[in-house]
Amino acid sequence: MKKLLVLLLMLATSLHFAGVEALEVYLPDFEMSFPFEGQRVVEPEDDVPFGHMRPEMYGIPAAEEKNSASHLLTEETETSTPVYHIDSGKPGPAIYIVAGTHGDERAGWYAASLLEQIALDAGSLSILPQANRLGCEEIRRHVIGSLDLNRSYPGEEGGDPAQNLAHAIYDDITRMQPVLVLDLHEAAYYAEDSDFLGNKIIFTNLDGIEELFFSLLESAEKESLGKYPFGFVSPGVAGSLNSTAAKGAGIPVLTVETFRGFPISQRVEDQIDIVLHCLRFYGMID
Ligand SMILES: [Zn+2]
Repeated sequence: MKKLLVLLLMLATSLHFAGVEALEVYLPDFEMSFPFEGQRVVEPEDDVPFGHMRPEMYGIPAAEEKNSASHLLTEETETSTPVYHIDSGKPGPAIYIVAGTHGDERAGWYAASLLEQIALDAGSLSILPQANRLGCEEIRRHVIGSLDLNRSYPGEEGGDPAQNLAHAIYDDITRMQPVLVLDLHEAAYYAEDSDFLGNKIIFTNLDGIEELFFSLLESAEKESLGKYPFGFVSPGVAGSLNSTAAKGAGIPVLTVETFRGFPISQRVEDQIDIVLHCLRFYGMID
C-alpha cells in the first residue's frame, strides 16, 4: 500500500484548546493545515447544528413523509437499533447502508439519518443509521467499554455486546444480498507511520462493482466527488465489515471516510454525495 508522504509544519504560532497545546499540521492531501492534538485533529465547532439539517439541503430526493423503521436488530437488548427498509416497488438492485458504527464519527450517521427520508425510483435501500446506537447517543467510538464493533465481524450470537451486534448486522446484510454495502465512517488520526484515512473510500474486493468503482474514480479525478479530494485505499482491516463481508459473503463494501478537520456540514454533504453517486449509478434515483 502506498505510504503517504506527509509534511509536518510546526508553525511558530501554536493554538491552545482547553489547556492542551494544539499544533498546526499540514496535510498535502488537502493542501491545508489543521489543528492537531497529538495525532488527532481538533474538530471545528459545528457550523450547522444536526437539528437544522434537512434532506433537501444536500440534494436528497425526499419523500413527503418520513419512512418508518422496518425492524430492530438485537431487539430486547441494550444495543437494539432500527433498520429502515425503503422499497420503491419497482425492479432494481438492493443497497445496504451502515452508519454510526463508531458513534463519534458523526457525519456518517447524520448523513444516514437524512437519507431515511429518500424517495427511490427503482430498487430498494436498507439503512442502518446507528449501528452502534449506544455509541451514537454518547458520541463515542466503542459500543461498551473498549468493544469496537468494526473489529467484531462476523460476530457471534450471544457473544459480547459488540459481537452479538455484529452478528445481527452481518445476518441482516447477508439475508438481503445487496449488490453493494456502503459503510459510513470518519477519520480523525494522522501518523507518519500509518495510512492517512481522511477523505478515503476503502475497498477489499471490487468483484461485481468494477464499473461503479471506475465511475467513482473518474468523479474523484474530476474533483466532482465531494468538496475536497477523495482517495482510494485497500484492503479493509481484519474484523471490519468491509473485509468480512467481501471475503466471507462475496458482498462488496465501500467504506467512506470523511476527515473530521472539515466543518460538519461539509462532511455530511460529502458523505451524501458519495451515497447519491452510487444510487444514481444503479438508476435508483434521477
Ligand atoms: Zn470508523
